[in-house]
Amino acid sequence: MIIEPLLLSATRRQDTHQVKIGAVEVGGDTVPVIAGPCAVEPGYVEHAVAAHRAGASALRGCVLKPRTRPGSFQGLGSAGLPLLDEARRITGLPVIAEPLALDDIQMLRGHVDALLIGARSMHNTPLLRAAGQSGMTVILKRGMSATYDEWLAAADYVTAEGNRQVILCERGIRTFETATRNTLDVSAIAVLREMTDLPIAVDPSHAAGTARWVPSLAVAALAAGADALLIECHPNPSESLCDAAQAITPEVLWRIVQTSLALCAMTRPAVADSVSGCRAVIDTIDDAVFHLLEYRAAIVEAVQQRKLAAMLPERDLDREHEIVDRVSRRAPRLGPQRVDRLVHAIIDECLDAVPACPQAVA
Ligand code: PEP
Ligand code: MN
Repeated sequence: MIIEPLLLSATRRQDTHQVKIGAVEVGGDTVPVIAGPCAVEPGYVEHAVAAHRAGASALRGCVLKPRTRPGSFQGLGSAGLPLLDEARRITGLPVIAEPLALDDIQMLRGHVDALLIGARSMHNTPLLRAAGQSGMTVILKRGMSATYDEWLAAADYVTAEGNRQVILCERGIRTFETATRNTLDVSAIAVLREMTDLPIAVDPSHAAGTARWVPSLAVAALAAGADALLIECHPNPSESLCDAAQAITPEVLWRIVQTSLALCAMTRPAVADSVSGCRAVIDTIDDAVFHLLEYRAAIVEAVQQRKLAAMLPERDLDREHEIVDRVSRRAPRLGPQRVDRLVHAIIDECLDAVPACPQAVA
């Protein structure tokens, strides 16, 4: 199995600078998912609760929206702040929001746990400086056509103010492709890891632009070692006042969060630091184990059909010994005897699950 060592090396970042969004750590043992509707709109508290139930670790709470067209919904502005407060109180989750102008930072202070500097603002150096001076955590999105160097230089504006609570966020870049809203640059995760110790988040929503493509991009980002995900989620996506086409449902969000937990469980075992944390990891491992066993059983059925056609015996004891030997090396804690028992139980049950074949009986 080449997958696990590759994921380990791709996703482990011993030296990542850890950044906090409220109590949530980014750049540590878990990959938090920050989720919520694109913009805070009427009904936001229920949207936030749905994201929380789906496993979000922090909430998008953008009360101000940079929009391409002035006629589009621009967010509720300060009228949305009580909704943020309520969502934060009910869910207990930290909230992030985007300031568009210098004064907005003051307006958001006390209501949010991190400032989101949007792609369009990455070059706004006064805003970067002010965000740095605020002392608040800053999530700095990559400009639509910014190089890694330009993006890191923008981060320097924040850190130069003595604020190293900075998370970089890849959100897709502008290319000649028009099917997706932007092209997710997965390379950014691998390359930036060598250029900076700042954690790297990925926003698959603004890259895909289409909800059904968001899970693939999210999983790609996780596999490449992203430190956090930023995802647009709405209980009724089509009713979303902003970016409706790319909003995923809480059900899909839940599956992405589960995938993130399963990958973390495989590659960052330190995640299990409390009874409930351990149980969450065990649940995701069991889900993954049985998902794979179901697949194994299907393959066993296929191999049995081929063996039957080739008139080969149902069982091959040499092959079974090889399996035990190979997987024993992967499971020193279990030891060879337990591995032997487990492997034979798996082989027996998979064979038992093969539907009785009329030709076999004949
Ligand atoms: C956002 O995340 O709210 C947003 C506007 O995205 P971007 O700045 O990446 O376009
Ligand atoms: Mn959006």
